[in-house]
Amino acid sequence: MPVTPPHRLATYPYHHGRGDHQAATRGHTMTDYRIVCTEQTGCTTGGHITAVGTGTETNSASQRYTVQQVYNLMDSGNTFHTYGAGRRANVHKWNCGCGVGTLRSSADSTTANNLDNLRICHWK
Ligand SMILES: [Zn+2]
Repeated sequence: MPVTPPHRLATYPYHHGRGDHQAATRGHTMTDYRIVCTEQTGCTTGGHITAVGTGTETNSASQRYTVQQVYNLMDSGNTFHTYGAGRRANVHKWNCGCGVGTLRSSADSTTANNLDNLRICHWK
């Protein structure tokens, strides 16, 4: 009878180097802002967005952010989105055809959450 040597179970987890997962999550409290209205300018047919209003209610913006402020918040790890017809769309940086940095929402099957279709902010 051949003697089968006992198997050693490999119990050592793989090490992929140290600290790989730390850099991305260090330090920041991230916020997911909902954009409820926009300010636009008419450099093209539809214009581009120059500022946005954020808040939790469709008809009431609680905070105004210029595009540059949104960019800064995005660079710090925060996210922006729109919500309509039961669906959300992520908002990201986009360069308008006129060369100005602005914002656009991700393509979606509904236009209800399209950033360009949100109401215009009317700050008092
Ligand atoms: Zn433009």
